[in-house]
Amino acid sequence: MKTVTETTDLSLLPCRSLRGVGKSIADRLSHLGIHCVQDLLFHLPLRYQDRTRIYPISHIVPGDHVVIEGTIENVSNPIGGRTRLVCQLRDPTGRIHLRFFYVNASQRQTLQTGVRVRCFGEVRRGSLGLEMIHPEYRIHAEEFIPDVEENLTPIYPTTDGLSQQMFRKLTDQALVMLASGGALQDILPPALLQQYAYPSLKEALHFVHRPPPDAPVDILIEKEHISQKRLVFEELLAHRLSLLHLKRDFQLQKAFPLEKKNYLTTQFLSQLPFDLTKAQSRVLADIQQDLAAPHPMLRLVQGDVGSGKTVVAALAILQAVENGFQCGLLAPTELLTEQHYRTFSQWLTPLDIEVVMLSGQMKTAPRRLALEAIAVGRAKVVIGTHALFQKGVDFNNLALIVVDEQHRFGVQQRALLREKGKFNDHYPHQLIMTATPIPRTLAMSVYADLDYSVIDELPPGRTPVTTTVFSNTRREEILHRVRDACTSGRQAYWVCTLIEESEVLQCQAAENTAAEMREIFPEVQIGLIHGRLKSQEKEEIMAAFKKGELQLLVATTVIEVGVDVPNASLMVIENAERLGLAQLHQLRGRVGRGAVASHCVLMYQTPLSSLAKERLAVMRETTNGFKIAERDLQLRGPGEVLGTRQTGDVSLRIADLLRDDDLLPAVEQAADHLLAHHREAIAPLIKRWLRDSAQYGHV
Ligand code: ADP
Ligand code: MG
Repeated sequence: MKTVTETTDLSLLPCRSLRGVGKSIADRLSHLGIHCVQDLLFHLPLRYQDRTRIYPISHIVPGDHVVIEGTIENVSNPIGGRTRLVCQLRDPTGRIHLRFFYVNASQRQTLQTGVRVRCFGEVRRGSLGLEMIHPEYRIHAEEFIPDVEENLTPIYPTTDGLSQQMFRKLTDQALVMLASGGALQDILPPALLQQYAYPSLKEALHFVHRPPPDAPVDILIEKEHISQKRLVFEELLAHRLSLLHLKRDFQLQKAFPLEKKNYLTTQFLSQLPFDLTKAQSRVLADIQQDLAAPHPMLRLVQGDVGSGKTVVAALAILQAVENGFQCGLLAPTELLTEQHYRTFSQWLTPLDIEVVMLSGQMKTAPRRLALEAIAVGRAKVVIGTHALFQKGVDFNNLALIVVDEQHRFGVQQRALLREKGKFNDHYPHQLIMTATPIPRTLAMSVYADLDYSVIDELPPGRTPVTTTVFSNTRREEILHRVRDACTSGRQAYWVCTLIEESEVLQCQAAENTAAEMREIFPEVQIGLIHGRLKSQEKEEIMAAFKKGELQLLVATTVIEVGVDVPNASLMVIENAERLGLAQLHQLRGRVGRGAVASHCVLMYQTPLSSLAKERLAVMRETTNGFKIAERDLQLRGPGEVLGTRQTGDVSLRIADLLRDDDLLPAVEQAADHLLAHHREAIAPLIKRWLRDSAQYGHV
C-alpha cells in the first residue's frame, strides 16, 4: 500500500495502489464504477451483520442473524443421503439445531459430539424447534476463545469474483488512508453541516463503513442514519447543482425571439369550437413569454391525459409561424404522428399554413417533396417521429421544437435534442409535453434543468370514466357488453396485451381476437390496428373509426398515447395486470373524452398476486393521474416510473429518490445557498459525484 501524505488526493489515487489489487481485481472494481480510492469510500454497505456479541440461545428468535456458541450434543443423519447432517447445539441457556444439506467428508469428521462451535446464521423455526441452516461456523477448543468482531460487519454490493472479505480488506486500507490524512476535501461549507447537524465527511465515512457495536443496526439498514443521510444529501446536492448548471448554460445561448403578434393565434382561437380552460391559458402565457425572449425556452408541460395539450402546442407553434419561422413537432409513434398531421392540417390549412409529415415509412417521391418544402421554408409545420432529425432533413429556419408525450425522456436525450436543431449559434425553443404526472419533489430533482408548467384542469363537460375489474373467466359477459355498446351508437376499444414484449405475438393476439369477434358479432363493423400494419393502412382504419364507420377497434397498445376519438366510450383491456399503472392510465385516457359516461373494463388472468390486485384496485379507485403516479412510485420506485431504467439516466450512487425524498427540500435550499455564497464548492461537488456523466456539460 502506498504511504499516504496530507497531499495525497484520494480521488486521484487508483485502486491499483491498494495492496492486493492487480489487474483482474481492478477490472472487476471498475465494473462497479470504482476506479479510485474515493470511489471505494463512496461504495457504501448495503446492510450490516452484528457479529460483535454472542447471543444466549434462549434469547434468539426466528429472523435474527446472530452469533451463538455451544457444544454439539448429538449428531444425526436424516433420511436423504450421506451428505446431510443435523447437529444439536447446546449452550447453558438452551438448544438449537444446525441443519446441513451438504457436508463433505472433512466437515463430517469435525462436526462431532462434544466439540465446541461458534456459528453465525439466520435463526429459523424448523420441525424440531429453532434451527440454523448452513450457518458459517468455526470449531475451537474449550480453552481458546476467539475474539468477536469489534464493529458491525458491513455487507457490500458486489459482483462475481469480489468477495465480501476482499471488500473489507480494501475498505480497511482506504479508511486507514483517510484517517492518516489522505485528502478527501470536505466540500460542504461548515455552516451548512452545522445547520443540519451533519458529521464531517471523514466521520460519516468511518461510521458507515465500520459502525461501532452500539450503532443502531435497524436505522443503518433503513439507511436513515445521519451519517448516511449526510452522504446522500451531498450526492443529491451535486445532482441538482449540475442540472441547474446545465440550465444556466442553456439560458446563456441565443435563440430567435418570437414575439406575440396575435394575428394567426387570434384567428385560430376564433375558429376553435371551445374556449381554453383557465389552466391552458395560464400555461400558454408562460410559453408565450418564454418564446419572446432571445434565449431558448426549455419548458416541460405536464397535463393529464385529455387535458388538452395539443391546442396549447398549436398556439405556441402559431406564435413561431407569425414570426416567419418553422416548427417541428416530434411524436413518439407513427400513429400519433398521423393523427397530429390530420389535426394540424385541419386547423392550419384554413390559415394558409403548410403542414407536412415525415415518417419512417414514407415512399421516396413524397418524401423528396416534403424535404424540399422543409428546406426552402415553405413547410412551416413539420410533424414526424424521430425521422424528423435524420440526415437529409434540413430546416430553413427552425425556431421551435415541440416534443409530444415524452414520458421517457432522460437528461441525455434532452442534451441530444438541444444540439439537433442548432443553427449557427442559435438554438430552437423547446416545448416538451407529457401526460406522465411527476410528483413535485421528483420533478424538482430530476427535471431541475427545465422550467415546468402544469395543466391541472380538464376541459368542462367530461364525465369521469368508471372502471371495473373482471377475471377473464367472465370474458363472455364482457363481449356482450361490448356488442351492446356498439349496436347502440357508441364505439369501443378492445386492447390486447401479452406478457412477451414480442410485437409479432402481440399483433397475432389482436388478429385472433378480431377474427373471433367478427364471427360472433357479424352486425358490428370491426377494425384491427397494430404496429405491423403499413402507415397508410393504420391511417385509413383510424380515420374510419373516427368517422364512426367502424364501431369496434381491436388494437394492441399502439393506441396507448394521444389517440383522440371522443365518441368512443368503452374500453376493454385484456391482461391488464401485466401493464404498468402509468400505461393503464394512458390507455384508459382514450375514453371519457366526450359527454357520454364512459367505462373501462380491466380483465385479468387468474390467479392474481396481491401486488397486482392492489395495483388494479388503484385504477378502480381513482382517475386522477397524480394519485396514480404517486401510488405507482410507491409500488415500483422512481426508475420505473420515470422510465429511466431504460435510459440509465438517474445514475445515483447512494441516494434513492423515493427513500430520500424527505431531503429534497433541504437540497433545493442548499443548492441556492451554494449558488449565492459558495460558488467555489460547486465544481468540485459535481466532479466528485458525476465524474462519469459527460452529459452534464462542462463544469
Ligand atoms: P392531451 O392533453 O391528452 O393531449 P388532447 O389535446 O388530445 O389531450 O385533447 C383532448 C380533447 O379535448 C380533444 O378532443 C380536444 O379537442 C379537446 N379539448 C382541448 N381543450 C379543450 C377545451 N378547452 N374545451 C373543450 N375541449 C377541449
Ligand atoms: Mg396528446
